[in-house]
Amino acid sequence: MERDTPLRFVKGIGEARSACFAKLGLYTAGDLLTFYPRAYEYRGEVKKVAETEDGEVCSLLLTVDSEPRTGGTKVQYIKFTAGDDTGSITVTFFNQRWLLRSISAGRVFRFYGKITYGFSGREMLSPSVEQVLPSKRLPDVVPVYPLTKGLTNNVVASAVAAALPLLDTEPEIFPDAVRERHSLLSRRDAVRSLHLPSGRNSVAAARRTLAFEEITVFQLALRIARRGVSLVSAPEMTYKNSGIRRFFDNLPFSLTSAQERAVKDILGDMCRKEPMTRLLQGDVGSGKTAVAAAAMYFAVRNGYQCAFMAPTEILATQHARTLDRMLSPFGMNVSLLTGGLSKKQKELLYSSLSSGGTDIAVGTNALIQEGVEFRNLGLVITDEQHRFGVRQRALLTGKGDTGDRKPHMLVMSATPIPRTLSLILYGDLDVSVLDELPPGRQTVDTYLVGSDKRERVYGAILHAVREGGQAYIICPLVEDSADTDRQSVEAYAAALRGGSFSGIPVGVLHGKMNRKDKDAAMNAFASGETKVLVSTTVVEVGVDVPNASFMLIENAECFGLSQLHQLRGRIGRGKRKSVCVLLSDNAAGRTGERLGIMCREHDGFRIAEADLEQRGPGDFFGDRQSGELVFRVAGAADMALVEQSRALADEAFAAGSKAYPELFAAAGRIADTNERKNGIS
Ligand code: ADP
Ligand code: MG
Repeated sequence: MERDTPLRFVKGIGEARSACFAKLGLYTAGDLLTFYPRAYEYRGEVKKVAETEDGEVCSLLLTVDSEPRTGGTKVQYIKFTAGDDTGSITVTFFNQRWLLRSISAGRVFRFYGKITYGFSGREMLSPSVEQVLPSKRLPDVVPVYPLTKGLTNNVVASAVAAALPLLDTEPEIFPDAVRERHSLLSRRDAVRSLHLPSGRNSVAAARRTLAFEEITVFQLALRIARRGVSLVSAPEMTYKNSGIRRFFDNLPFSLTSAQERAVKDILGDMCRKEPMTRLLQGDVGSGKTAVAAAAMYFAVRNGYQCAFMAPTEILATQHARTLDRMLSPFGMNVSLLTGGLSKKQKELLYSSLSSGGTDIAVGTNALIQEGVEFRNLGLVITDEQHRFGVRQRALLTGKGDTGDRKPHMLVMSATPIPRTLSLILYGDLDVSVLDELPPGRQTVDTYLVGSDKRERVYGAILHAVREGGQAYIICPLVEDSADTDRQSVEAYAAALRGGSFSGIPVGVLHGKMNRKDKDAAMNAFASGETKVLVSTTVVEVGVDVPNASFMLIENAECFGLSQLHQLRGRIGRGKRKSVCVLLSDNAAGRTGERLGIMCREHDGFRIAEADLEQRGPGDFFGDRQSGELVFRVAGAADMALVEQSRALADEAFAAGSKAYPELFAAAGRIADTNERKNGIS
């Protein structure tokens, strides 16, 4: 067996099961190694019956003290009592008659499950059960793997166990001295311990080692991507004759003081000899586009071209329109470049970019394709930065790289990023923050309700529409079937048109639509022709329709808080009082707490902090768009390791790949993964 041996050849898997594993994103034997358990059952920590509390999940070592009774027709059950020296409990199994073969009075078993207090005292329903025999030692810890239909935990665990010998040839990422200094396990031991842990301490030590590794590798990847930036010169610009005042005077509003500060930072950077590497961070609606436009105006005035990259076509199209409105009065030429252009259109545009006929190219990642060349690229901007990988950022900058000169770079992010995470993501970028919203913005009243209230919510939407407003209805993507988002969005819209919303123009928007239809749907909504837009999260980033004042989010529990905040940011942009309704039938416990934060908090930064705390950085941006976050192990609690790992990444970067070959190799793999993940927007 090799790392790239297909799973169907791994012992105990075969053709049918390998299809199930594929659903979990596992294809080769090597993939199993980093398929870490999502939780552990500490079955070795055995309790006494008398100590157990209602609702507690625990492990008990019990002797069966009554012969099992069986019964039931549709659902067959087995019922018996079992106890230790402090008391006894009733154990019931459903549809597991095969257990009768081993369970009988006098035998000893270890039961693991949830205790409930019922009529006849303490009970366990369908616990895990293992017979205690002198010949066999039971494991103290049982790893719990993410599963999918057709796979049991045992099947996954034994597949992983079969792959573990691959670790024998696993290279160490860190040299011994580094491991010693930071008290890290060997990589081999750490991976093995996560799969076959001996107790709580071994899990914690293994997690720490692997989290440290992930964070360090990532930091190094960032440094590699930015290699040499400060060694080259930049397109030097000047305020002289830029006439930036005239740009401001032409805006339909005056800048907030936060926007003014940011513009000053950015223009100041562009007047220096080194390329700017700046992050513009500002909550949803804080007006980053106008700041970007000022920077582009300045660059074009100084004789340079600009490239502005957005993660989706909808957003790129919208930006191109906005920028054209702001900049064409000054004779600047804005062009849109997306994958949707015909070959002929593309060729025309390419030649206008390379001749300098186009001043500003706005586009999706079509901008970083081969063949796109600029005459004199001086400024690159990426919007919604977290959607792009390290390498994509570097590729865009590369379009203006003349060998001894690199363009200025501005990255913008609407997702307010907690300090610890921004250290990881952006390393040492300079940061400008828009910490102020334009005047007249109102908070969006947010409610959490169950689906029994759906008709009432529809009533509220109809009311808003009658008053001249518009509404979004957001449906989550349904798991992994390529067609379900279309179906769910289109079926939902059809049901509305045929029911509560008959006579009201209802539009749809989802990722599977072709470009023309997407544009048409967005335009129809922006112009007010459609009143209600049923959509997936494709409207999440940046879309700006100020007349929309209502948002209903179905299955709100499926979204991360930052994502909900982004979605909610689509409304409350105009004069109308805006309302956001989170619909969820799954709002008990932690989920309810999480969604409750949305109802109380309107500050994106505090929401992001809460989100990070609850979900850890791997999930921070939601799975689909996790962009460059590829952490499998590191969680919120590991953020304390960031400072140490930054220092190590700096040290390794300075020492070079000869001193840290495996660390550099791992960092290189990250860049590649991101490129693949972000291939198409
Ligand atoms: P984001 O930071 O989320 O990208 P946008 O740039 O899309 O925000 O701006 C949101 C809205 O606010 C736009 O309609 C824009 O025209 C408007 N806007 C931006 N700056 C100001 C300002 N200083 N005063 C009033 N409105 C503004
Ligand atoms: Mg924006």
